[in-house]
Amino acid sequence: MPTYARLPITLDRGKGAWVWDTAGKRYFDALSGIAVCNLGHAHPAVAEAICDQAGKLVHTSNIYRVDLQERLADQLCHLSGMDNAFFCNSGAEANEAALKLARKYGHSKGIHSPKVLVMENSFHGRTLFTLSATGNPKVQEGFEPLVDSFIRVPYGNLSSAHEVNDPDIVAILVEPIQGEGGIRIPHEDYFPGLRALCDARGWLLMMDEVQAGVGRTGAWFGFQHSGILPDVMTLAKALGNGIPIGACLARGTAATVLTAGKHGSTFGGNPLACRAGLTVLDTILNDQLVQRARELGERILNGFKERLVQNSKVIEIRGKGLMIGIELNLDCSHLVGFALEKGLLINVTAERTVRLLPPLIMSDDEAAHLIASVSELIEEYAAH
Ligand code: PLP
Repeated sequence: MPTYARLPITLDRGKGAWVWDTAGKRYFDALSGIAVCNLGHAHPAVAEAICDQAGKLVHTSNIYRVDLQERLADQLCHLSGMDNAFFCNSGAEANEAALKLARKYGHSKGIHSPKVLVMENSFHGRTLFTLSATGNPKVQEGFEPLVDSFIRVPYGNLSSAHEVNDPDIVAILVEPIQGEGGIRIPHEDYFPGLRALCDARGWLLMMDEVQAGVGRTGAWFGFQHSGILPDVMTLAKALGNGIPIGACLARGTAATVLTAGKHGSTFGGNPLACRAGLTVLDTILNDQLVQRARELGERILNGFKERLVQNSKVIEIRGKGLMIGIELNLDCSHLVGFALEKGLLINVTAERTVRLLPPLIMSDDEAAHLIASVSELIEEYAAH
């Protein structure tokens, strides 16, 4: 079905931060498949683990214990401070699990029409429940009636969250940095404030870490920059470096809500996906890539600021770790195609923000190449 307005290239191989199309042209991948291939392409440890696991056991069923799933859950809980995990296959499914958890939590408190507080400009997925949670009328249009259990407030605005006082609210679902919404980074008081609000009102704080999680922002998970712990956290994208996997993790009371028979997935957490996930976490730990993302992110952000800050078409350069946005005062509809011609994979979110999500395994030279090539691209595009 024509659900994607695809660009006219076909990629057929990759190595590290680079990919090649079927005509042999090379591109620098500054998007990592939208925050998926954090370890770059054809990472030897990931490739070896997938091949080895494929020769042993790809899939059994959640009817039985799955050792690799238990090990991945343990490792994720250790890194995040959560207590347990439910595995699925995508970000939307991870958020779907979180939203079901929130509803069931509400019912356990005698709230029969539980509602979740969500944000303007958010993105949580394309299933009907997660689409309804998403704060973007463009992607919702034509799918009404939406699921009617959300109250929406502006992102980053603590007082508007405080002002909402509906007794049916049971949880807040929020991204640590809005990715699809244009790389929006809230003030450092925001998440401690939301945490305190949830504690005061008995709401669950649910962080959607699908895009920001797994090392990308220079912390294992975005919430860790604020020194808080959510009750629920969702993951997908980079967890498998391209092997589909999602997870919904929970802590404390939230971890007791979904009991046997209340949720499930045929593929979720199968041995192949979990072996990939474990290998991704091991590699990030062994190669100290969280630290590396933080250092490279600072260097790249400073590089862009030095080179582009004087450009009248550049409104703002912002980022955390390797989640970087350059907001332009321009119609960007031809920018991605122009970048392709120049051998660069980027994208544009929120219409005017160039989004960069390069792999965490970049070398120093590749980081310098990223700064130079993206700056040149923006300068040339702005000049024309
Ligand atoms: N949540 C966030 C923050 C995302 O950025 C995305 C995808 O971009 C999703 C959820 C949905 O993930 P998926 O496309 O794997 O369903």
